[in-house]
Amino acid sequence: MAKVLYNGDIQEEVLQGKKIAVIGYGSQGHAHALNLKESGFDVVVGLRGGKSWDKAVEDGVDVRTVAEATAEADVVMVLLPDEMQPKVYKESIEPNLEAGNSLVFAHGFNVHFNQIVPPADVDVFLVAPKGPGHLVRRTYTEGAGVPALYAVYQDATGQARDLALAYAKGIGAARAGVLETTFQEETETDLFGEQAVLCGGTTALIKAGFETLVEAGYQPEVAYFECLHELKLIVDLLYEGGFENMRYSISDTAQWGDFVSGPRVVNADTKARMKDVLTDIQTGVFAKGWILENQANRPQFNAINRAENNHQIEQVGRELRALMPFIKNKPVNAKKEVVV
Ligand code: NDP
Ligand code: MG
Ligand code: MG
Repeated sequence: MAKVLYNGDIQEEVLQGKKIAVIGYGSQGHAHALNLKESGFDVVVGLRGGKSWDKAVEDGVDVRTVAEATAEADVVMVLLPDEMQPKVYKESIEPNLEAGNSLVFAHGFNVHFNQIVPPADVDVFLVAPKGPGHLVRRTYTEGAGVPALYAVYQDATGQARDLALAYAKGIGAARAGVLETTFQEETETDLFGEQAVLCGGTTALIKAGFETLVEAGYQPEVAYFECLHELKLIVDLLYEGGFENMRYSISDTAQWGDFVSGPRVVNADTKARMKDVLTDIQTGVFAKGWILENQANRPQFNAINRAENNHQIEQVGRELRALMPFIKNKPVNAKKEVVV
């Protein structure tokens, strides 16, 4: 089994006395800044004027421009949206990095796909929590944590690995477990997971199930409960104890149906498509498409997003959830809470 490190395995002294700039104060940024500060580290947040700036001030953290925060800091954690990072890096971070500084990421995309090329005299590593930023913050305040991966891309000082581990401990990740990876493995597995299983695979499965029932004449409300609402209960059981725990809780009829019908729906063909998806990630085809889509101002992203938001399952879902006040109905502008 891969070696998983916990609080007792990690020395944090190497990061003490260093100034940490957390660039960005969104889902991950606010969690890293507040957790590190409460763990006793010296934190400054780098931002532009706007919503996040006001929130960071409200939360009592020191805020500066990205250029100022970078210039002040020894360790610079880049927590901007991935598609914004290359531009902000070029304009405000790179000119203010000094030899021996650390340049840190929470996802390997830009370094792995050469959108950011760091100078040779800085440490480059990543600390990637395997969970949404709002959980990174909430679990920390509860004395727990979200597990994280770390990887060293470039070790200019000889201390990059120790700094990465101390950083992971500072955000509370070592309470749950910290595992070593590479930029390549983190980037490719993260993209594959969100595309094939967690986000893309799941929404496509839900939609296909919902449409199958509605096209067969069943009520959309019944189809919604069956294919979307109940999924949460099943996922909770999987999270707590894997397949066995989930199957223990469902009826034997459901379990038999799981065995005989699951592999008819997700079959060898589906797995072959998953391999295609992985190949596009590994060869840079996916990255190139996403980079160009952003340069073109997201025409396809926006069109698909509009169509998806108008799908019948979304319309029915909005109405049904409004009648279930115990479900916290998140406004659309909070969508970053669920990025993986
Ligand atoms: P968010 O979109 O939640 O936050 C982005 C932050 O960057 C905001 O505070 C925003 O401030 C700020 N920002 C955007 N543009 C600029 C700019 N030009 N100058 C200064 N500040 C700017 O990002 P995430 O937290 O989702 O993602 C950050 C990184 O973490 C990414 O690399 C992502 O892959 C990684 N990651 C994210 C996870 C998650 O849970 N979301 C999970 C694991 C990794 P403003 O209010 O001014 O727009
Ligand atoms: Mg049932
Ligand atoms: Mg991701």
